[in-house]
Amino acid sequence: MKEHKKPSQPLLYYYGIAMLIWLLFNIFIMPLFNKPVVENVAYTTFVNMLTQKQVSEVEVTATKIAFRSNKDDTTYVTVPMNDPGLVDRLLASGAESKQILPKQMSPLVSWVLTLAIFIALGQFLSRYMVKKMGAGAGNFMSFGKSNARVYVPAQTGKTFADVAGQDEAKEALKEIVDFLHAPEKYTKIGATLPKGALLVGPPGTGKTLLAQAAAGEANVPFFSISGSEFVEMFVGMGAAKVRDLFKQANEKAPCIVFIDEIDTIGKRRDNASGLGGNDEREQTLNQLLTEMDGFDGKKGVVILAATNRPDSLDKALLRPGRFDRRVPVELPDLAGREAILNVHAKKINLAANVNFNAIARATAGASGADLANMINEAALRAVRLHRDQVEQADLEEAVETVLAGYQRKNAVVSPKEKQIVAYHEIGHALVAAKQKDSAPVTKITIIPRTSGALGYTMQVAEEESRLMSKEEAFNRIVTLTGGRAAEELIFGSVTSGAANDIEQSTKLARAMVTRFGMSDTFGMMALETVTNQYLGGDTALACSETTAAQVDQEVMIIIRKAHDKALGILKDNAGKLNELAQYLLDKETLTGEEFMAILNEKEADNQ
Ligand code: ADP
Ligand code: MG
Ligand code: ZN
Repeated sequence: MKEHKKPSQPLLYYYGIAMLIWLLFNIFIMPLFNKPVVENVAYTTFVNMLTQKQVSEVEVTATKIAFRSNKDDTTYVTVPMNDPGLVDRLLASGAESKQILPKQMSPLVSWVLTLAIFIALGQFLSRYMVKKMGAGAGNFMSFGKSNARVYVPAQTGKTFADVAGQDEAKEALKEIVDFLHAPEKYTKIGATLPKGALLVGPPGTGKTLLAQAAAGEANVPFFSISGSEFVEMFVGMGAAKVRDLFKQANEKAPCIVFIDEIDTIGKRRDNASGLGGNDEREQTLNQLLTEMDGFDGKKGVVILAATNRPDSLDKALLRPGRFDRRVPVELPDLAGREAILNVHAKKINLAANVNFNAIARATAGASGADLANMINEAALRAVRLHRDQVEQADLEEAVETVLAGYQRKNAVVSPKEKQIVAYHEIGHALVAAKQKDSAPVTKITIIPRTSGALGYTMQVAEEESRLMSKEEAFNRIVTLTGGRAAEELIFGSVTSGAANDIEQSTKLARAMVTRFGMSDTFGMMALETVTNQYLGGDTALACSETTAAQVDQEVMIIIRKAHDKALGILKDNAGKLNELAQYLLDKETLTGEEFMAILNEKEADNQ
């Protein structure tokens, strides 16, 4: 790798300034030097000097008389008078008649002066630049100074106790903290310690929090900077900042350097485009790599970084000796969610009926940040309702607020639309309830939300599983198609209200075929790869076009089958569908128990 490539932009930048100064100099300063020395005098003075033979040269025009004295170098100017004796006097004085140019600095002198000033300026600027870029000392406008904040433990105030449900990540960081406290223990046995650890995971899972907690526990200086802070207004400053950051860190070792959102600078360099590309970011990244290689691992500088786009990082960053340790910070599981709720509820006044386990169950897929937000929303709701304690109902409502937005109680939904939504939602719920491998329905509502949802059906699995069987996957798709199927069955037409269901079911069916090996046609063939697993999980095709067309066909068949199954279930239970939809229209919200009670009572009637 070519390192220490001198940044080219900053030079350009300084040359720009130099040019500007030079221009200003030429416009405003030079004329002062070049100004001819001219003195206006009265006509009588001119005549007096003439008679005393003090005039050496003279030029007479219609509008002025310019002359030079033989005593000094001054050029004098006067206004001509109607003076018939002038010619005689001129001749008598012996003054030479010639064109008089204002005396000027010789062009050579002016150029030498300009050049000298220019060089001096260049010297000053380059010396200043070296100082800024190299040492980062001095405060002149603080260009290139890394704005890493130094946290001393008391300032972050965070410890590992504040982080819940990330036990593996905490263990990994504890080891690093331990190394900073007792490096001999590791070096004695010959182990080299990881120079850096990269925290990867979806947004809001506590990566930043973990790094802060590590600093709080380590009792060492903690430099924290965000990737975006490297890429600044002035080009070329990123590299300088990196240099400065590491210089500071070396001085303060042992310490922790934390680079948050490292993907902003650590993105894969594409050497394809020769035309500049993103030179700025590349220089910053190069500098980072250089610094990471450069410092002594035994000295006790540990670099932590966090990202939710590990796939986009430059491979050079991940190779051993740099961020050789990867610490996954995944979405919390059931126990993790409960623990996080407990951590954040510490300063909240809770009612006795609060059951965090139930909330944790209902929030599969929520991040730590979501959960923290839910606790706060619940507290706000309690205040709104003039209570001084947070109750379970507040938490339940907060879950929905965070997941689906606020209720829009006064949103105008026509009775016809309401009816369609009610049938749609009961369609989902009924199909779910009538299938074996599907999570129980816990809530159905047709109160619109600010997210745009006109209603929704919540299902909560009895126990959290990490594996999904082929049957479960298919049944999920059946449930997703249940809403649309109900609309078709009852109203004989369809609405746009199923767009989200369609998107989700297609995504799942596609994953079944291309990634889960759940189709008979392709078996265990990988046909797609996930490109950014932590942000929406976009996929890229990894097969030929013919195969891709076959995949589409296969996906279509799965969804068709699911839709047919849902329609069949609803046809068989049309009576219950009507009754439940009517009930939902009246009540707007049904709990899982109410739903099951009506469903079972109806079944009893039929027998
Ligand atoms: P990330 O950096 O992974 O995007 P943050 O660390 O910024 O996420 O998390 C945002 C907030 O969410 C934290 O300040 C904290 O309040 C809460 N949070 C996230 N994860 C956890 C966790 N595991 N334990 C406790 N709180 C958490
Ligand atoms: Mg973060
Ligand atoms: Zn739906």
